[in-house]
Amino acid sequence: MLNRNILKIDKINAFSSATAYVARYKKEHPQRDVISLGIGDVSKPIVKPIIEAMHKAVDDLADMSSFHGYGGYYGLPELRQAIIDNDYPQFGFTIDEVYVSDGTKSDCTNILELFDINSRILMADPTYPIYRNRCYALSREVYFTPLDENYQMVIPEEHYDVIFICSPSNPVGNAMTYDVLEKWVSYAVRENAYIIYDNVYEAFISSPDVPKSIYEIPEARKCAIELRSFSKRASFTGLRCSYFILPKEIDTVLFKERTINRFNGASYVAQVGALASFLPESRELLQKNIEIYKENITFLKKSFEKMGFEVTGGVDSPYIWVKNKENISSFEYFHKILNEINVIIVPGAIFGPHGEGYFRVSGLGTIENSRRAVERFQRYYEESH
Ligand code: PLP
Repeated sequence: MLNRNILKIDKINAFSSATAYVARYKKEHPQRDVISLGIGDVSKPIVKPIIEAMHKAVDDLADMSSFHGYGGYYGLPELRQAIIDNDYPQFGFTIDEVYVSDGTKSDCTNILELFDINSRILMADPTYPIYRNRCYALSREVYFTPLDENYQMVIPEEHYDVIFICSPSNPVGNAMTYDVLEKWVSYAVRENAYIIYDNVYEAFISSPDVPKSIYEIPEARKCAIELRSFSKRASFTGLRCSYFILPKEIDTVLFKERTINRFNGASYVAQVGALASFLPESRELLQKNIEIYKENITFLKKSFEKMGFEVTGGVDSPYIWVKNKENISSFEYFHKILNEINVIIVPGAIFGPHGEGYFRVSGLGTIENSRRAVERFQRYYEESH
């Protein structure tokens, strides 16, 4: 019998239906200049010091004396040490608590193998849809919590076993302050629950009251697994490398056993590239890229606000979450904007029923395209109102 739960997603509001619509639209109107503000991919190439390190890594594989084959199930020790030294210097983690992998998209739900099949799993609505869709596919028990008036996940009264927190948030674009996150950690400790903390947008955090890591809250070591990725911070979206921290207070045995049986390790070349991302010369270049994306999202945030939209996010993340001004569904609005001004936005309903009435805009594209898209929006609203 096939696992039909893989299709247990809201097909009408699925990401795939929006991308299929865009593909069809472009094919039918090849002469139209379509600009995407929906982009989740990066628009900066991998920086030179990382490329050079990877060239050398490729050469390593050409000679048996420097060849790397099977065996690095949890990642290269030098990369795991660099992650601790650079990203978590104050927490005293050891490399046994770091797992290198091939992307947070896989990690965020592969980690569910650590938890009992009957665990009650909680996530936000709206949410990064992969958590929801993969949980359905794995026949896991999924529950949702809405956002409050500050667009923060409401802490439930009931018991849940596993909680997905995405901060900085995709899609909402805001981040949890220390105070808010501390309440979630207290909830998890009180309920004997675990937090899967998706922190892939950590590089974009600049607000002083937003922790860079959940482990800034000391009790988080007992309950939180933090996931990070090289995708957005170092343009590894096609190369693939990520990691997560599984503190020894949670587990030292189960996930190692699981990993040895399940995963043959991340690509050697990608890991060497990830290691090179910590070189001072790489860090400087990568920080410049992040500043450019941040400038872009700030421009978009201000522009939509100026046009009278209610906007959240865009300070500690590359996304803004915009309330649709028209009384139509988020998919109707997406179709309308694509047809009228040839701009792609992401309809909020993709992220869950409470995303209805909103759309997501990304600052990961180029500033030139953002300017052109904003001009089209301005003209559209001047002409139609
Ligand atoms: N988690 C969130 C919240 C994301 O937005 C994304 C990608 O857009 C991912 C995970 C996937 O990251 P990776 O490229 O490391 O698989």
